[in-house]
Amino acid sequence: MEDPMPSAQERAKMLAQEMKRAILEAKTAEARAKRLGDEVLLALAEAKKEAQAVSEIVEYPIGRYECKGCGQGSIFSQLYRELPPCDNCGGRVYLGAEPTITKIIPPPPRKYSAGMYECAGCRTRIVVAEDMDVLPPCDVCAAYKLKPA
Ligand SMILES: [Zn+2]
Ligand SMILES: [Zn+2]
Repeated sequence: MEDPMPSAQERAKMLAQEMKRAILEAKTAEARAKRLGDEVLLALAEAKKEAQAVSEIVEYPIGRYECKGCGQGSIFSQLYRELPPCDNCGGRVYLGAEPTITKIIPPPPRKYSAGMYECAGCRTRIVVAEDMDVLPPCDVCAAYKLKPA
C-alpha cells in the first residue's frame, strides 16, 4: 500500500532544498548589489573631479594668425581649444593669438550631495546619483527617510 502523495517528510526535504536555493540566490544578489554600489561610488567620485576640472573654456577665434617662429600666416576657420602647429615650422606660438576665456561658474552647492544613502525605514541602501536639494523617497518602501549612509 503506497501513498501517491509525497509524505510530509519528503515535502519538508523539498522545501528545505528550495529555501537553501533562495538563500544562495539572495546572497549572490547581495554581493552583486554591493559590487555595483562600490562602482557607483567610484563613478560619482570621478564625476565630481570632472566637474571641478572644467572651470574655464579657452577658445581661439576664427581668423588669421601669424607664426611667431617663421612668420607664415595661417587662416584658422574653426574655433580651437589649442592652436594647431604651424604648417611650415611646426611652431605653436602665434602672434596676435588672443583666446577668449569663458569661466564656468560652478552652480551653488545643493543641500545633499550625490552618494550612498540608507532608508531609515527599511534599511535599504539607495544611491543618489546627483546633488539635490530634496532627497527622493526610498525605492523599496517609498518613505522619505533617506539618510547619508
Ligand atoms: Zn612657423
Ligand atoms: Zn525604505
